[in-house]
Amino acid sequence: MGDLPLIVLIIAIKQRKEFKDKIYELFTDTLSLFYMESYLCAKEIMNGLIADIDVLDKKEEAEACDFVSTKEGLNKKARKLYIESYGCQMNFSDSEIVTSILKEEGFDTTADPYSAEVILINTCSIREKAEQTIRNRLNFFNAIKKKNRDVTIGVLGCMAERLKSQLLEEEKIVDLVVGPDAYRDLPKLVEKADEGERGINTFLSKEETYADITPVRLNSNGVTAYISIMRGCDNMCSFCVVPFTRGRERSRDPHSIVREAQDLFSKGYREVTLLGQNVDSYKWSAEENNKAKLEKTQSGVIVNFSNLLEMVAEIDQELRVRFSTSHPKDITDEVLHTIKKHENVCNYIHLPAQSGNSRILEMMNRTYDREWYINRVDAIRDILGEECGISSDMITGFCSETDEEHKDTLSLMDYVQYDYSYMFFYSERPGTLAAKKYEDDISLDVKKARLQEIMAKQHELSLVRNKLDIGKNCKVLIEGLSKKSDQQMQGRNSANKVVIFPAEGLTIGQYVHVHIVDCSAGTLFGEII
Ligand code: SAM
Ligand code: SF4
Repeated sequence: MGDLPLIVLIIAIKQRKEFKDKIYELFTDTLSLFYMESYLCAKEIMNGLIADIDVLDKKEEAEACDFVSTKEGLNKKARKLYIESYGCQMNFSDSEIVTSILKEEGFDTTADPYSAEVILINTCSIREKAEQTIRNRLNFFNAIKKKNRDVTIGVLGCMAERLKSQLLEEEKIVDLVVGPDAYRDLPKLVEKADEGERGINTFLSKEETYADITPVRLNSNGVTAYISIMRGCDNMCSFCVVPFTRGRERSRDPHSIVREAQDLFSKGYREVTLLGQNVDSYKWSAEENNKAKLEKTQSGVIVNFSNLLEMVAEIDQELRVRFSTSHPKDITDEVLHTIKKHENVCNYIHLPAQSGNSRILEMMNRTYDREWYINRVDAIRDILGEECGISSDMITGFCSETDEEHKDTLSLMDYVQYDYSYMFFYSERPGTLAAKKYEDDISLDVKKARLQEIMAKQHELSLVRNKLDIGKNCKVLIEGLSKKSDQQMQGRNSANKVVIFPAEGLTIGQYVHVHIVDCSAGTLFGEII
């Protein structure tokens, strides 16, 4: 069987991505039978293999489903915890909260699932593809469990909320199922699992924000960090599972946010990104943190997103502040003026449009139309100038979208001149408003062809936008060595563009001024001034 990885590799390179999951399954099954001991080496081959397939399938980039796993902790005597996190940045932040909770109970992280006592998979349900990938990983972890019955396998996050008892009772592939608002219950549930009981808590809270928990920074570069400022979402975009899996919108106590940012700054971090599904609707008072209830009662002094941004910006001029995601219906001129007022609040807004056509936007229940979106972009350009970075999320092939309507998305992209976009084709999710109301009637081929078109458009626009920076100077926060050469360093400018420049005795976490001399669609290249 010694040649099996090679055979799989050859098959994988010859076949297209449709076979990737099958090969993955075959490979992980084979692993469980023949390659248990050499898992780490096999994982390396596997990663290379996936990378090769991904290169073949660059066009399908938007479908890719990456994960981040825990690194080896320092405490060798602790019980070992392995977490794999999928999906959005909110999920990665949640894994940091989970690690913090379990560290209190005597756990430390490991990079190797084979040495873990507890394996947790923090899941994403946003597209079908993500769920499929996670199921494959669960099969793999179950192969580990066949060898080591003492290991506890748990599913966290959105899939836990969506599939609850199906994973636990019907398929019997996990020991724990814990939803995004129930992480405080994990120590108790792990203890139960130690005693052989399966545990579930998918209760969605109206108040939980984990405000008092200091996240353990996983996969950190020591310079940039994410701070979760709110949970849940009260919007009901018809394509989206988030309101069902993450519950009602709650804002976190601003004082705890400021304390977390101050603590990070004192430890050498120089950039924080304030995270929420819809940061512009952040609203908190000492009496009420649930947005719907607060809007009804208007009780107490209300802190809005602009106030919060100001509070964090005032911690220190040397601490950069970013935020994501902004919803076009909620972003206010007040927020734009706060960005303008503070040099350390970055000149960059992620403003997902989803579509450029008003009929589709209405069916998506985005609560704005093309004109409203354009008005918000015009306000950004008026107040923050042409240099402000703007990015978007786009969905192609939503129910009943015509060719003409798809062209409206392309023309909106031309109007806005996005610096970049995250682009997806529509994936129907069970239980959402769209799944109930509309037929998913655009063929996969058409969805993919439209996706290719908007990706090509975005590539063109990114290059145009980056070329405008050639000959200009910008301030860059150094985040690390360039991925391609240790003679070069990389960081980002205020507009969130990656800038690469010669290393010349510089250190990570330092601000430098860079003169831009060249660019590609994804990167600016410069010289230190
Ligand atoms: N709260 C953010 C907003 O309103 O823009 C979006 C959060 S969602 C986790 C990230 C992106 O996933 C969305 O902006 C959307 O483009 C995409 N997405 C969500 N549901 C989808 C679906 N059913 N099919 C395809 N893409 C989807
Ligand atoms: Fe989903 Fe819409 Fe909420 Fe974003 S704003 S998380 S797309 S429901």
